[in-house]
Amino acid sequence: MYYVSTRNKGMKKLAAEAIAQGLSRDGGLFTPEVFPKLSPNALETMREMSYQQRAVYVMKPFLDDFTVSELTAYAKRAYGDNKFDVKEVAPVRQVDDTTYCLELWHGPTCAFKDMALQMLPHLLTGSLSKNSEDKTACILVATSGDTGKAALEGFRDVDKTRILVFYPKDGVSDIQELQMLTQQGENVGICAVEGNFDDAQSGVKRLFSDEKLRDVLAERGYFFSSANSINWGRVLPQIVYYVSAYCDLLRDEKIQRGEKVNVCVPTGNFGDILAAYYAREMGVPIGKLICASNQNKVLTDFIRTGIYDRNRTFYNTISPSMDILISSNLERMIFEFAERSDGEVRSYMTQLANQGRYEVSDSVRARFQQNFAAGFCDDTQTKETIAKLWNENHYLVDPHSAVAFHVLEEYRRESGDETPTIVVSTASPFKFCADVLDALGEKEIAQGTAVIDQLTEKTGVPAPAPLAALKHFKPRDAKVTAKEAMETAVLDFLK
Ligand SMILES: *Cc1c(COP(=O)(O)O)cnc(C)c1O
Repeated sequence: MYYVSTRNKGMKKLAAEAIAQGLSRDGGLFTPEVFPKLSPNALETMREMSYQQRAVYVMKPFLDDFTVSELTAYAKRAYGDNKFDVKEVAPVRQVDDTTYCLELWHGPTCAFKDMALQMLPHLLTGSLSKNSEDKTACILVATSGDTGKAALEGFRDVDKTRILVFYPKDGVSDIQELQMLTQQGENVGICAVEGNFDDAQSGVKRLFSDEKLRDVLAERGYFFSSANSINWGRVLPQIVYYVSAYCDLLRDEKIQRGEKVNVCVPTGNFGDILAAYYAREMGVPIGKLICASNQNKVLTDFIRTGIYDRNRTFYNTISPSMDILISSNLERMIFEFAERSDGEVRSYMTQLANQGRYEVSDSVRARFQQNFAAGFCDDTQTKETIAKLWNENHYLVDPHSAVAFHVLEEYRRESGDETPTIVVSTASPFKFCADVLDALGEKEIAQGTAVIDQLTEKTGVPAPAPLAALKHFKPRDAKVTAKEAMETAVLDFLK
């Protein structure tokens, strides 16, 4: 199977090349040339399989150039050996008669980024060795929180890789900073940037395109690589959990064979919900894809009107991983709905780069509206939803997941659609203790890691072990760099 660029269908790569390269040179995103279909009995076949086995089964048809035994070893390293705190890896919980919650935060960093970032390092190093690359990959990451920690943990002590994470000095929560500064591993580096997330992100982009630096590092035996969510190696592992959730519902006789389920996904960069669409393309009976946004509702507006417009106020919300105005993976969805016209995609993306805005054709808009529903929710509604789920269902959720529950409720009220629905839960509530406690009506909120115990005392829900253990680790000293000096930080790291 080949991968094509969304901006040039003539550009064809094998999976190992697409994963090693990340982004196509024309700026497009690598996408499978055709979507493999599950055989009619596949979902039945997978009913009794473990998550690791399902991962191999689902990923293999996309990865001709990898063997089943390679993928089995990767799945074991990514999802086995107690890496996740439940053996189901991505369990499905029933919340009420027709609502299920797919919990994607049982991994080592308690956010859904683990689902992909535990697998990506193996796909990447496997790809590099297939491409006979002999240099060591240096993964550069700019993070506003969750991605940095998940990438550090995924690449920790992985052969032939080093990873350096930049975060905005005052732009991440105390817990997120502590999670990064207590990272173990011989090949990891963490550096705070004096500036905001945009400064860190543009700094990393500059490093990637600095040819002089590239030459210096090549002499030292390194090259830069990215763990960004546009890499196919991050999207593919996300398809697995939608297939797996459907198999669980079948196995537990919550749904009949062939019965449709909707999915509702808290969305930022559009990677997670795109994976649900791909699972449906493979043959999983998924009905509506419900796209949930916070107050940065650029996607809600786009799906409702066909106009994508990033020229708007940016809000810092209590669901920060969805505070995004440029949703990069949307490009892959537009490529499908534009009947794979690379020219049409190029034209929209040029308009986005130049004017920050584009309007899709009537037919693309119609396709979005047939397949997706969209809604959004502000911080007050997010907190009300956290309180309501706790009080009525005794179910504790984080702010990102709460956004999805709110949007689902509104969708059901407006559409009358009562199809069983899987809500995707993307972070442990213990990553956002202060806001969750506030939502539950707590007036005096503790400082630092004490909030973790406070949330457990309030609810009786135990904190995930990696977060509960934070108070026992001594953080390393935070390295700080001026935003103009990030290059020096890289050179010091790769001495
Ligand atoms: C990254 C993230 C999201 C958004 O996922 P996308 O794939 O970017 O749409 C939602 N919730 C949490 C907790 C995240 O870390």
